[in-house]
Amino acid sequence: MSAANSPDFPMFVSVAEARQMLAALLPALETEWVGVGQGYGRTLAQPLAALVSHPSATESALDGIACRAADTLGASASAPAHLQLTGESRAGVPFAGEVGPGQCIRIYTGAPMPAGADAIAPVEQLIDDGPDAVLVQRPASPADVRPEGGDFRAGEEVMPAGLRLTAPRLALAAALGHARLPVRRRLRVALLSTGDEVIEPGQPLLPGQVYDSNRIGLSAMLEECGCEVLPLGHAADSPGALQAAIDSIGGADLLLTSGGVSMGKYDFMRDLLIVQGRVSFWKVRMRPGGPALLGGWNGLPVFGLPGNPVSSLVVFHVIVRPALTGQPVQTLRLRAGTAFRGLPDKVAFWRANIVGGEVHDYGKQGSGVLRSLSEAGALVVVPEGGSVAAGDEVDVVLL
Ligand code: AMP
Ligand code: MG
Repeated sequence: MSAANSPDFPMFVSVAEARQMLAALLPALETEWVGVGQGYGRTLAQPLAALVSHPSATESALDGIACRAADTLGASASAPAHLQLTGESRAGVPFAGEVGPGQCIRIYTGAPMPAGADAIAPVEQLIDDGPDAVLVQRPASPADVRPEGGDFRAGEEVMPAGLRLTAPRLALAAALGHARLPVRRRLRVALLSTGDEVIEPGQPLLPGQVYDSNRIGLSAMLEECGCEVLPLGHAADSPGALQAAIDSIGGADLLLTSGGVSMGKYDFMRDLLIVQGRVSFWKVRMRPGGPALLGGWNGLPVFGLPGNPVSSLVVFHVIVRPALTGQPVQTLRLRAGTAFRGLPDKVAFWRANIVGGEVHDYGKQGSGVLRSLSEAGALVVVPEGGSVAAGDEVDVVLL
């Protein structure tokens, strides 16, 4: 069967269509509970409300004294206010009494404000006046009092469902008082690289062979997306080897393959899906990465990335990652420092670097330039039929 002669599946879909079609084949993920210490990189399945208020009491933002603002009005270096010290409040150990007129207590950052006091004078503005009194050289400020619940109040919904738990967000979840978190089950992605010439790093390399860099890079990118990776290793370029690898998969949500999706005689992925399963699309109107393939086999969605490492990286970034995570591709608008050519019927993702707030052509745009995986920090997006002159504003994807 020749797919190119009589395809009964869409060809040359747009990047957005490819993304939507892949996302539509992925399952809704059930909720599971993990300890807050295990939540890094996971996605919240339900919104999180604060179980407590923060601050949990009205407290001082500074080290200094707590007093009545009215007692220090007009205080200056030449005419300091004189206040009697009657105690202290430190973090975790509040002052039990009340601060009266003309009185103050020593207070430290995060310590509860005592009754009667409404302002803070920082330690830098104080001069000791014997063991039990201080001189205050500037008016004490209510702005340095943090009100109870000023950050969040108990019961307030603070984190929405769908939020990816980055390190700071995980810290916030703990501060809200949650010991366990409702997160989405991880998507299980089986990963297979293909190609007779592809071998493991560490083996001697014969002329014409290449180390399997895709499996390593893609596995790390899947981890970054919060997926569980089922490593299938590598399969030779034969329908039998591919079929055996795919048949060995148990319990995955997606099979991600690299290589064997182009026009060559030894590119078997597409025809295998035509015969054994189905093809949802083949080829995307983009460069690099045009030959990408989506299909299914025995109910398992299969996404075929081109083998070329540059192409597979770009397709992963702009199609696979957003489909897996539900997060749109993050782009910045930047000024182009160099020109970027356009392509009549494809969106181009040119490797580039950000230099002094402008985006510059990386130069070698061949898909085989592997060092660009490390050296180019961004992709400049040139829409179909468009072009970019130096000085134009462009969309930029950070790598
Ligand atoms: P293919 O898509 O199979 O036609 O491969 C395109 C190019 O990518 C060829 O030069 C391959 O040698 C190279 N390639 C394929 N798979 C990998 C891989 N896993 N790691 C590195 N390069 C690869
Ligand atoms: Mg190949």
